[in-house]
Amino acid sequence: MNIYDIENVKLLLKKQLKISIIPHKSPDGDAIGSCLGLYLYLKQLHQDVTVVSPNDFPDYLKWLPSADEILIYDNAPEKAKKQIENSTLIFTLDFNSLKRADGLTPLLENSAATFVMIDHHQAPEAYAKVTFSNPNASSTCAMVYSFIDAMGDKNQIDREIATCLYTGIMTDTGNFKYPTTTSNTLKIAAFLIEKGAKNSQINSNVFDNNSFNKLQLLSVVLKNMTYLKEYDTAYTTLSSEELQQYDCQKGDTDGFVNYGLTIKNTKLAVIFIQEGDFIKMSLRSKGNNDVNLFARKYFNGGGHINAAGGRFNGTMEEAVTYFKQVLPDFIHKNI
Ligand code: 5GP
Ligand code: MN
Repeated sequence: MNIYDIENVKLLLKKQLKISIIPHKSPDGDAIGSCLGLYLYLKQLHQDVTVVSPNDFPDYLKWLPSADEILIYDNAPEKAKKQIENSTLIFTLDFNSLKRADGLTPLLENSAATFVMIDHHQAPEAYAKVTFSNPNASSTCAMVYSFIDAMGDKNQIDREIATCLYTGIMTDTGNFKYPTTTSNTLKIAAFLIEKGAKNSQINSNVFDNNSFNKLQLLSVVLKNMTYLKEYDTAYTTLSSEELQQYDCQKGDTDGFVNYGLTIKNTKLAVIFIQEGDFIKMSLRSKGNNDVNLFARKYFNGGGHINAAGGRFNGTMEEAVTYFKQVLPDFIHKNI
């Protein structure tokens, strides 16, 4: 991390401040883990700090230290609004564009606060006074670790901070599987374990948390899957009716998209999930097949080279038809 940027943040933190930390909409393990890790660190520095999430987060993250202290805009809009309006310093974590903050977006856009971004997505927007952006980082949690280290406070990382940061590194690397996992990632993880993160327990808390309904829903995902041999592409769908039938809860569909990618030689896996009058998409790829560019160009989204999201306004049938139309562009690398 750039020394000048770190010095800048140190100066900012010297003032009497009200601080908010914001994850992206529908936050995942990395978003919540990084926000809570930074939150606990700033509390150690005796700062007045609150994590404000645009909406609720999955049950498999509710056990994280201080997770119950997160202010959720959807559940308490007035309180969250006041918190943002009164903030003088706002950290945005694990996203690169204010429009990813959903209901909080207008409040952030109109805020007079100083912004600090910590994020590992490509092409960060220029709204922050200090931008820590590293698209090569495995996770925002690893960046928060590097931030605390660069602040000279590595030894302030206690069991709770270590637990939060380990969780996000673990989830965003797909259990240390994705190519973003380097020797440095494992060194950070090892350090966090030394500081008290219980790696096996954390894994179990996150991944052995399925409801029976979720597994039934997974069976629908697998049944609905189509494999396009010509394009080495697997895609599947979940309609509103199917989600309702199995009482789908927040986070239940996380990770479903990965099953398509386990088919031998798959280049691309996609899941289409109906959310009212639009279709939310998750895309995953292998190698240098860039789903970030694909999602940006055709599905009003973005993300990383091998993991991205997007949306399509219309019916499921229209979404799939459009996807098949533009798929050759992706496969033939015309994007
Ligand atoms: P997921 O498919 O798990 O929702 O997201 C995969 C990655 O793409 C994550 O890094 C997530 O932040 C990003 N992502 C998901 N949906 C969108 C979107 O609509 N827009 C952008 N810019 N990024 C997204
Ligand atoms: Mn992330």
